[in-house]
Amino acid sequence: MEHRTFRWALAISGAVGILAAFALAALALAVSAASAARAAEPGAGPLIVTPVPAGSSGEWTVGELTFESRYPDGFVFTAEISSSAGPIVRGRVTWSLAPGMQRSAPFEIDPHTGHLVAEWQPGPGDSTPPWLGLTYTWAVGDAAGNSLETEPRYAEYADTSRQWLRSESEDIIVFSQGLPAEVNDLTLKAMAEQRETYRAAWGDLLPYRPRAILFGDLDAWREWQIGQMSASIAGLTRSEWGGTVQRVTGAGVGDIAYGTVLHEIAHLYQDAFTFMPAGTWFIEGNATFFELQQYYDYEAAVRVLAAAGQLPALLDGTGPGVSGRDARRGYDIGYTFWVWLTDNYGLEGHRQLITLIKEGVGRNDAIEQVTGLTTAEVERRWRVWLGASPIAPTLVPTPAFFFLPSPTPHVVGK
Ligand SMILES: [Zn+2]
Repeated sequence: MEHRTFRWALAISGAVGILAAFALAALALAVSAASAARAAEPGAGPLIVTPVPAGSSGEWTVGELTFESRYPDGFVFTAEISSSAGPIVRGRVTWSLAPGMQRSAPFEIDPHTGHLVAEWQPGPGDSTPPWLGLTYTWAVGDAAGNSLETEPRYAEYADTSRQWLRSESEDIIVFSQGLPAEVNDLTLKAMAEQRETYRAAWGDLLPYRPRAILFGDLDAWREWQIGQMSASIAGLTRSEWGGTVQRVTGAGVGDIAYGTVLHEIAHLYQDAFTFMPAGTWFIEGNATFFELQQYYDYEAAVRVLAAAGQLPALLDGTGPGVSGRDARRGYDIGYTFWVWLTDNYGLEGHRQLITLIKEGVGRNDAIEQVTGLTTAEVERRWRVWLGASPIAPTLVPTPAFFFLPSPTPHVVGK
């Protein structure tokens, strides 16, 4: 899943940019002889050796394992592994940034040290922000057919070229640079305040600890991006990264912590716990529901719309859009649906709904099962609660292009 963030302070003043394609190419893997000569870093102790298969001879020796970040140019793994039964003839290092994603790279043997060396460099279109966390293992085999897999190790794609502030709690790992230090503390607090809400709404906490990487400086924000990314995109959230990256401008640090981060983390929950229909009021309204600080009163804005007779149909067809000129309106309207649902059926109703959808039940059928009401009756009650007429107004005929699907801010799929 990928989710792009647009800063709504801009959107409200009419400066919503057109979504730009953001190419995500496969990771380019490469091993270079030059990097193979790099000396291993000290500090990593020997590991427990996995027993060799029964009946085979020989013994594995595992010495130092190292990881070196060369941000923004990738990273290098080295390993001192040898077998008394023969030379190492096969193997890879495999790493994961979040559960469900995996990458690997082959190794070369450094002719000077005999160490295994594997390198990864970002290729064209392969934007990788700093401070992603990696869990990695080496799996190797010797000429006699023995194999070995090392215990998982953790490392971070560190940017050591500038000053970053790192904070962590049981809920999240936060990195920030060029911003007031309080943004880290506020983010930890916001996540702690929402912990039990997330847990109740989704049935559990995320299966991993997410990270928020917050950029104050434009050069730091651009450094890891390969190729063109629209200047209007202020953030990206990807399950494959296990987190969100945000460029913080203008908005107060409280808005980022209690608004944007909580919203983006909700998108990670969506991807981890259900299969939300991409790019709809349903998914954006849901993420908005988890914000603890709003840029303005979203419900009040929708009530104004309702009083003016302009509240569109929600459950009939695709409902209000969440891109283009009226994008923000779609978020707000979607938000009120989730408020209505949880006001009446609690966070347990939220959990039931996303569970049914994950099981393959259609959105409206799932809503009917949770509420015990027909779709039309749900629509009617939601409208009346907002102060609108019980029946959605018939839309004045509009040019056909009005209904063309717009680019969605989500790309679902791993
Ligand atoms: Zn969103």
